[in-house]
Amino acid sequence: MSATRPGRDAGQYRAAHLHLPDGWLSPGYLEIDTAGIIAAVHADQPPTWDLAEVRRLDGFVLPGMANLHSHAHQRGLAGKAEGGAGAASGENFWTWRTQMYAFVERLSPDDLEVIATQAYVEMLKAGFTTVGEFHYLHHDQNGQPYANPAELSERILSAADASGIALTLLPVLYTRGGIGKAPSHEQRRFVHEDVGKFAQLVEHLLTLVASNPVWRVGIAPHSVRAVTGDDLAALSTIADRDPGMPVHIHVAEQTGEVDECVALLGMRPIDWLLAHVEVDDRWTLIHATHGSPEELDAVAASGATVGLCPITEANLGDGIFPLRDYHQQGGRWGIGTDSNVAISLVDELRLLDYGQRLLHRRRDTLPATGQETVGGPGRRLFDHALMSGARSLGQPVGAIRPGMRAGLIELDPDAAPMLGHRPDTVLDGWIFASSTPVVRNVMVGGEWVVRDGHHIREREVLEQFRAVVSRL
Ligand SMILES: [Zn+2]
Repeated sequence: MSATRPGRDAGQYRAAHLHLPDGWLSPGYLEIDTAGIIAAVHADQPPTWDLAEVRRLDGFVLPGMANLHSHAHQRGLAGKAEGGAGAASGENFWTWRTQMYAFVERLSPDDLEVIATQAYVEMLKAGFTTVGEFHYLHHDQNGQPYANPAELSERILSAADASGIALTLLPVLYTRGGIGKAPSHEQRRFVHEDVGKFAQLVEHLLTLVASNPVWRVGIAPHSVRAVTGDDLAALSTIADRDPGMPVHIHVAEQTGEVDECVALLGMRPIDWLLAHVEVDDRWTLIHATHGSPEELDAVAASGATVGLCPITEANLGDGIFPLRDYHQQGGRWGIGTDSNVAISLVDELRLLDYGQRLLHRRRDTLPATGQETVGGPGRRLFDHALMSGARSLGQPVGAIRPGMRAGLIELDPDAAPMLGHRPDTVLDGWIFASSTPVVRNVMVGGEWVVRDGHHIREREVLEQFRAVVSRL
C-alpha cells in the first residue's frame, strides 16, 4: 500500500476549546508549522493574523492519545476466539493463546499489512494518534527468516504509513517457549535463537524509521517466560544504541505465570525482572496485573510505566490491576488496546475506572491529590494516560504546547453526549456518558487523517480487510 494523503495542513487555528496541560483555553489559538509541529499557542488572537486565513475548530480540541500496546494482527481474530458454541468449559488465557497461535500460522505478509492498516484506521477514529506495536511475528510459515529478515516489520511500517498513525515499533525478542523450555513448533514464527540476528533487525529498523518523523523504534523482550537473564543483558546493550529507547515487556498478566516463575526461578516475575536489569523510566511493564504491593511500589519508584489494557485483560480473564493503590504510590500508567478485540479509547478508560469502582465500592478511582487545577475524574484519567503513554512510546506528543508534534483530536460539540458540557466536564461526558462516537477530526503530525468522523482512506482499507478476514 502506498500512502496518498493530502499532506500537512500547516497554519493558524482557532479552537473553541483547547486542552492545555494545566487547563483549557476557550477559545485558544494554535500555530502549526510545515513540519507538523506546534509552533505556538496563544490565549488571544495575535494581531498579525489574517482572519480570513485562520481555520476554525468549533469543538473541544485535545491531544491525541498514545495507545502504548498493540498486536495489530490480532484485530483479524477479534470476536472469533471466544470459544464458540462448542466450547468446552475451561476456556481461559491459555486456550485463547492456542487459537491465536493457529491464526498466526495462516498469516501472509500481505494479510498482516491489511489487518494492521485496518486496526490503525480504527485506532485513529477512536482518538489514538500514536501506537506502540509490540511486534513478535518475524519469520515465515516454516519458521525461517524471510529473504528480507525485516519483511514483517516493514509491513507494520507500511500499515502505519497508509493509515497515518504515528508509530513506535517494538520488535520483540523471544528465545524460549516458557521458563526453561525450548520454543514450541507453534512459536516458530516468533523466535530468534541468535540475539545477534535480532540486534541486526533493530539496527536496520533504526535506519528505516529515520525517514519518517512520526516513527520510532524501541525493543521488547517478550516476557519473563520468553527471555533469559542473559538475553536481558544483551538487550540493554542494544537499547544503549539510542538514548531513551523505549523498552517494553509483558509481565505478571496471569497467576499461572507468577506461579511458574516462583516455582522455577524462585521469584515473582516483577521481582525477577528488577533483580536482572535496571528498570528505569524507559521501561513499560505491560499488564503487571498480579504484581504484589511490594513489587508495584518498586515499579512506581523506578519511574517505569505500567501499560494497562483493560478490555483485553477483561476479555482474557486476566484479573484487575490495583490501580487505585498504585496511583497513590505515584505510579505511572498508560493504556493499550493489546489484542484489539475492541478498539475504543473511551471504553478502555471507562472499564479501567469501573473495575476499580466495583472492586473498592467507591467512585474516586484516582483520588485527588490537591494539586489538580482542572476537571474531574474523566480529565484525571485522560491526562494520566496521555502523559505516561507519550513517555512510554518515546514520542514528542501528549500535550498541546510549542515543540510538540501536532497530534490532535476534536470532539464534536453537537454530538448528543457532548451537549450541555463545558470544558471542565467534557471528559466526564465523553468517557462515562457516550455510547456513540464523538471524535470528529483527527490530526497526526499536521495531517488531518480523520475528517467528520471518517478516516480519509477507510473505504479502501475496509474492502481489503473484508477480503482478508473472509478468507482467513
Ligand atoms: Zn500483549
